[in-house]
Amino acid sequence: MFLLEIEKQEFGLKPMNCPGHCLIFDHRVRSYRELPLRMADFGVLHRNEASGALSGLTRVRRFQQDDAHIFCRESQIKDEVRSGLEFINYTYEIFGFTYDLKLSTRPEKYLGDLETWEKAEADLTEALNEFGKPWEINEGDGAFYGPKIDISVCDALSRKFQCATLQLDFQLPSRFNLSYSAEDEAKKERPVMIHRAILGSVERMTAILLEHYKGKWPFWLSPRQAIVCPVSVKSEPYALQVKDMIHQAGFYVDVDTTDRTIQKKVREAQLAQYNYILVVGEEEASNGKVSMRVRDKANITVMSTEDLLKFFREEVAAFR
Ligand SMILES: [Zn+2]
Repeated sequence: MFLLEIEKQEFGLKPMNCPGHCLIFDHRVRSYRELPLRMADFGVLHRNEASGALSGLTRVRRFQQDDAHIFCRESQIKDEVRSGLEFINYTYEIFGFTYDLKLSTRPEKYLGDLETWEKAEADLTEALNEFGKPWEINEGDGAFYGPKIDISVCDALSRKFQCATLQLDFQLPSRFNLSYSAEDEAKKERPVMIHRAILGSVERMTAILLEHYKGKWPFWLSPRQAIVCPVSVKSEPYALQVKDMIHQAGFYVDVDTTDRTIQKKVREAQLAQYNYILVVGEEEASNGKVSMRVRDKANITVMSTEDLLKFFREEVAAFR
């Protein structure tokens, strides 16, 4: 942790969300009617990694996770885990990732009672079976505080990364003495906590996606969706007009107003991996059109600016 002393008091920068979510759960009396209670958090996390361990976007000292904690009853574990698996599948399909599923069961050294463990493992097994994708068992590889499902992503080069997590935790709710009132109000029960992340660290996922796409982001995700390249100074006002129109329609667009040759501008835009390169000259300016090139293809399509925006919207809609 990063520790700071401020006015003789010690502070630490938050390294993880789990304890904070327990405190939120515990800030007032809870009833079984509120469960499952799901908390999602993209809060900033800090870990004081050794400088030698830092690496690009994959190991950083300040990052965010698409973290969530689900507080539920034992009877709700199966459904919550299954919907977590469906969420992971939905997200990974968008990116074109395939993934492996493994159920990690009770290790030799564990906390809690055997009966709870066995019930939880049976629930996870059932959730995996209902989910319907192939999975394997990883005997004895669970955490000491609960069994978990390990999800490893395979990228375009078939390399594996662990990003998503679905982890049961019986211990943290007990450490924080969490409880809710059951149907019989006098009876207090302890919730189970599920740690759930899909992308994992957003920074690390960005690095994985960059390599997965080899720098060629799909249009909907690209920070360089289009660039307008005027042929000469004369067509610059029109180029700026086209750029504004695309920007106002909600797309990322740049304009190249340098005085280099059009060949040079196009070449550079290709190297920078703009998805679409829009060349405009006097002819395009006079009839409200653009000459569109796809990132690394040679052919050119001439279309009106209205048709261009329609085309962009369709490209994005294809991913929804
Ligand atoms: Zn957690």
